[in-house]
Amino acid sequence: MATDWPRSWLLRISPTVAHRVGMRTTNSLRALQMHTSAMPSATAPGRSTANRCCARNQHKLVAVSLPLTLAKNFRSFADLAAAYDEGADYLITRVPRPGSSICIVAPHGGSIEEHTSEIATAIAGAEFSLYVLEGIRPTGNYAALHLTSHYFDEPSCLELLVTCDDVVAIHGCKVDGEVILVGGLDKELAAELGAAMTKAGLVCYLDGHEFPGTHPNNVCNRGRRGVGVQLELSAAFRESSPHKRKLVAAAREVLLRHAALRTRPGAAKPSV
Ligand SMILES: [Zn+2]
Repeated sequence: MATDWPRSWLLRISPTVAHRVGMRTTNSLRALQMHTSAMPSATAPGRSTANRCCARNQHKLVAVSLPLTLAKNFRSFADLAAAYDEGADYLITRVPRPGSSICIVAPHGGSIEEHTSEIATAIAGAEFSLYVLEGIRPTGNYAALHLTSHYFDEPSCLELLVTCDDVVAIHGCKVDGEVILVGGLDKELAAELGAAMTKAGLVCYLDGHEFPGTHPNNVCNRGRRGVGVQLELSAAFRESSPHKRKLVAAAREVLLRHAALRTRPGAAKPSV
């Protein structure tokens, strides 16, 4: 929980300093721990009155830390929304594409898991529905806003996903190398995506890694079939433009094929 720091400390923080360290005047104000010490006195002989006033009103910033309300303690989106503000701490983009039964999701976009928003948006293109939650805080986005995937129940996201047969969630992870770790309960689609990505020259693992994504409440498994896919992309992978282009092309090729099969007259309903 946020700490209530002594009000006398807060009164010493000028609006300019508050802006520099990303403070706002709501919850974050209470949550800011700031150690200040007065600048050396400006009362030495010869200093002007103006200088003395200026020096009295300044405080040297010695150390700043933000004791956040940590997302690792959240058990639902409601917990996150109670601690942070949409528009100030995070943004939600929801683009339902009528006629599409495929949704691309980036629940940890923006500065929570860098580049996942842009990758999800590129895979969605103009054809597939898109949902992105982006962290926009000046610092500490992962600690503040990384709501675990099986607790991610943001209502407008779930509302969109239940209209979709295929869900692909894009994540970032901190493993070494330029790799894609494929998870989720839709083993068939995972295998198809894995084959296409491998064919494109990318290194991907379908199992034997730490991100299986098999929890039934994992956001990737919240489509109407109850199964989906998640792609965990290493940091080095996300920094590589050629890798990102190949991933987007491979994923779109597979998903466009799925979309065409689903819309074909007489096509069988997908099985779970
Ligand atoms: Zn993630």
